Amino acid sequence: MRPSRQTGSRVALVAAVTLALGLGVAPASAHPQQPGPSDKVPVAIGYGGAVTTVDADATRVGLDVLRQGGNAVDAAVAAAATLGVTEPFSSGIGGGGFFVYYDAATGQVHTIDGRETAPMQMQSDAFVEDGVPIPFADAVTSGLSAGVPGTPRTWATALAQWGSMDLGQALSGATEVARRGFVVDQTFVDQTTANAGRFAAFRSSADLFLRRGAPPEVGSVFRNRDLARTYDVLAHRGVDAFYTGGLASEIVRTVQRPPVRPRSPLVVRPGLLELSDLASYQAPLREPTRVSYRGLDVYGMAPPSSGGSTVGEALNILEARPGGPFDTTQTLHGYLEASALAFADRNRYVGDPAFVDVPLEQLLSDGFAAERACLINPAAALVKPVAPGVPDGDYGSCEAAPVGADVSDGQSTTHLTTADRWGNVVSYTLTIESLGGNGMVVPGHGFLLNNELTDFNFTDTQGGNDPNLPGPGKRPRSSMAPTIILSDGKPFLALGSPGGSTIITTVLQILVNRLDLGMDLPAAVAAPRASQRNTAAVQAEPGFDRTALQALGHVFTDNPEIGAATGIEFLPGGALLAVAEPARRGGGSAAVVQGG
Ligand code: GLU
Repeated sequence: MRPSRQTGSRVALVAAVTLALGLGVAPASAHPQQPGPSDKVPVAIGYGGAVTTVDADATRVGLDVLRQGGNAVDAAVAAAATLGVTEPFSSGIGGGGFFVYYDAATGQVHTIDGRETAPMQMQSDAFVEDGVPIPFADAVTSGLSAGVPGTPRTWATALAQWGSMDLGQALSGATEVARRGFVVDQTFVDQTTANAGRFAAFRSSADLFLRRGAPPEVGSVFRNRDLARTYDVLAHRGVDAFYTGGLASEIVRTVQRPPVRPRSPLVVRPGLLELSDLASYQAPLREPTRVSYRGLDVYGMAPPSSGGSTVGEALNILEARPGGPFDTTQTLHGYLEASALAFADRNRYVGDPAFVDVPLEQLLSDGFAAERACLINPAAALVKPVAPGVPDGDYGSCEAAPVGADVSDGQSTTHLTTADRWGNVVSYTLTIESLGGNGMVVPGHGFLLNNELTDFNFTDTQGGNDPNLPGPGKRPRSSMAPTIILSDGKPFLALGSPGGSTIITTVLQILVNRLDLGMDLPAAVAAPRASQRNTAAVQAEPGFDRTALQALGHVFTDNPEIGAATGIEFLPGGALLAVAEPARRGGGSAAVVQGG
């Protein structure tokens, strides 16, 4: 451990908090010049800034930026760029994401929409052939599913708006990791193995990820010099070098003529992306969603993500629910029911606001929440799926919940959370959609393309009113839910998770665990998860206690692992509690600038 640079009173506070939470204080991170084994810990308490991600290298690089005087935005970009190296199957410059930022100087919360866009040639029936939707797996591994990546523009926008470093400085740590390499862990091997079949179909992907045809071994050093060179180009020429010119042409070529090996058994459809789609890409700033819950202000991501609206609506429903205080069973019953009701409304009303008139204000209104909340029966689970409500501003008495139609979603992605000594906070979720994106590495550039456009519905799921069909230049609806919670205008908690549409329930369940069930943040993150997204059965991890909920009529199916959250809680007295997963996805990495 490094010698402490804290004042006596701060040491005492950290010690007290540590004892209270029953935690070990994290060692300050090492700064290896050469790749070494990971020393990651899932919980850290201290001062001066914090970084928490799924990966030790990404957390270390983000922490180095804070130590060098960078702010939370610089650290978030640096950590995200490193995740593009060490977690290339979950995120990277070939994908998109949503960036939520609390600015300490103004007390404002800002967001950047870095969602991928559909090509201008994409019509609502893009995933339909001969009147039937193409198989989902075919769509995933295709050029058709690749949207214009939003991540490079997100980084440039965040740094220009609120950063203190330029892109070159923010990328330098990640570039070094790409060039020198990192030590392969079991998660990396597992994720490569899961993709080995389709990576083998593309020469560029096989060359990068399958050395001599097989995934790398645990403990070996993995280098990505192509990505290091690509980061160098962005560092020197800015992200316009991604959206125009040679790299843009290479992306378009990959999408339009996927580099499939001649004898591959895969059917790989080409995509519609053109240079003009890349050149016109923008990552707009959007107003965050905001609801109040138990006296706290919860800020989230507005459409085209459904994260903020669905987490927010569910919290409003929980707060509007009559009765209480509730015991653990009734609290979790309420959580499952509020989630199902909010998902019904999400599915019916939320899409890209440039194409769909999303009734966001009504979805997040207390009146609508009260109407939805009175459908919850404390004695019996609703029959799922429930039908959507009518967020029209005219809210009346309770009616029985009608039955709706079933909808499902996919898995992967990554979330990171940073805070700096000035009190700025970033909550950032980024993705390439499926684990391994569309499977295609852009030849010579070291990164995978996304398959984000499979987040569109392939056919109408809403009786002529589907807000999430493909469209030219449209952004597919997301579930990403990077969240920042303020108490009296000051940061209280920042968190998020990967996991497709389970992102929403993971964020919601952590909040219920933390705010309603009295768990501390490490326990709230570690607790077994259950996810009700308006389907007949609740997906639940094996450790989730089902018995009392089954007695109320909830039906469960197994999901071995839901989400991989990270978060930071801002403790009284200015201490930071940085938390990552203790076990899911191989465990995450939390660190603080000064602690222990
Ligand atoms: N593409 C998903 C979304 O935007 C995230 C993917 C995942 O987390 O698995 O909602």
